[in-house]
Amino acid sequence: MKTTGLIEKYKEYLPVNDSTPIISMGEGNTPLVSSRSIISHIGCKNLCFKLEGSNPTGSFKDRGMVFAVSKAIEEGKQRIICASTGNTSASAAAYGARYGLETFVFIPEGKIAMGKLSQAMIYGAKIISINGNFDEALKTVINISKEFDIGLVNSLNPYRIDGQKTASFEIVDEINDSPDYLFIPVGNAGNITAYWKGFKQYKNQNKINNLPKMMGFQAAGSAPIVTGKPVKNPETIATAIRIGNPASWENAEKARDESGGIIDMVEDKEILSAYMKLSNEEGIFCEPSSAASVAGLLKLSSQGFDFSGKNIVCVLTGNGLKDPGTVNTKVVSEIHNIDSDIDKIRNKITSLMER
Ligand SMILES: *Cc1c(COP(=O)(O)O)cnc(C)c1O
Repeated sequence: MKTTGLIEKYKEYLPVNDSTPIISMGEGNTPLVSSRSIISHIGCKNLCFKLEGSNPTGSFKDRGMVFAVSKAIEEGKQRIICASTGNTSASAAAYGARYGLETFVFIPEGKIAMGKLSQAMIYGAKIISINGNFDEALKTVINISKEFDIGLVNSLNPYRIDGQKTASFEIVDEINDSPDYLFIPVGNAGNITAYWKGFKQYKNQNKINNLPKMMGFQAAGSAPIVTGKPVKNPETIATAIRIGNPASWENAEKARDESGGIIDMVEDKEILSAYMKLSNEEGIFCEPSSAASVAGLLKLSSQGFDFSGKNIVCVLTGNGLKDPGTVNTKVVSEIHNIDSDIDKIRNKITSLMER
């Protein structure tokens, strides 16, 4: 049986009409995996990870991109453009290649993970690296998109949000309920906006009786929503959330306030610690940015927040393979070099055994 994508599956919940092309390369329908280890630190009833790194280009951006590209085709656009910390450009480039749209991506110089840049290159996007940060790149592409009539596929594009909200539908469809808490990294704040929109839409359709509390986490070095003012020079190892002036700032605050949730921040060392725990204890390799959701949960839990009896979902937004640089520079792991002599190998193996 052929895989149907999320536009086909959720078309009754999306602004799809007769002339909207139903396109797909298998995005959505990502695994919701139970925690085996981290749950023991939290004391909740259920803890699951939504593995958005399983999307075709390795991040949740494909959910919004497939629909933004569908709508761009419907509108007769020949070209799309975006500013990106990496994953949006990877996704735009892939869907652009598949559906014959010329793709322009603007990236902040030197601040994009190697895997993501490789994706934009191999899919054949026209890549423009600007000497500035994401926020500056976004301002530029907004102007360029108007001047040249190019489809803007950043999350300012409402179809991006519509596509991304399908992740909340999937969670509800899978657990037949709303979780009590949704933990999610916050960068440009499109995703928290999208999840909240999805949960509210399902509640309006009486698919759920309750709504989750939205728990957003920014990186401490780029936490404008937490501090209440734009950050001029955002800094964090979590490059996908290295954003100083989020486009969906107000909507993120609405999601927080309407749901009774929070938007808080985590230090890079807390992000790295969660990133390592996910890999070492759960076997899940996500991006540093993704680990901000779990870092936030661990932080609240260590502060004594009571999660007993609660169902929690942490969104793991992207695949760890996108950012091998962080592993190479931040993770201390010895590679044991020895001669291929069977006695030396036996001795080495014995010395490495822990039980
Ligand atoms: C884009 C992205 C984020 C941030 O999502 P926003 O919608 O910008 O808040 C987090 N993690 C990863 C891996 C991303 O690609």
